[in-house]
Amino acid sequence: MDCLFCKIVNGDIPSNKVYEDDKILAFHDIAPQTPVHVVIIPKMHIACADEVNESNCDVVGHIFLKIPVIAKELNLDGYRIINNCKENGGQTVMHLHFHLLGGKTLGEKIV
Ligand code: 5GP
Ligand code: ZN
Repeated sequence: MDCLFCKIVNGDIPSNKVYEDDKILAFHDIAPQTPVHVVIIPKMHIACADEVNESNCDVVGHIFLKIPVIAKELNLDGYRIINNCKENGGQTVMHLHFHLLGGKTLGEKIV
């Protein structure tokens, strides 16, 4: 499958990893929008939040279980999690991912 984040998972494209286990991977975004900008993805290919279902939702829970671990590792005292879903939601890489943003005091609004 021609998926950028699947290629990062299998090592075809390098990434600056901050956390990895058997189910998920977290790496620094190539174009950070905040001082700390990490992308957290399931290793299994799920296209977007719209494709989460009974059989694959465990990995989403696992991501949220590990977000505090990753945030602590990055010394984040407060952060924002963003998911963009499909083209109208601003998604550009069609492999489910959560943006972890922080490293400064963020405003209340997203846009
Ligand atoms: P989206 O717009 O789909 O929510 O987010 C995709 C994110 O992936 C963007 O923030 C973009 O900067 C990041 N990105 C795109 N290509 C690469 C890449 O090759 N490596 C890394 N580390 N991040 C990437
Ligand atoms: Zn993928």
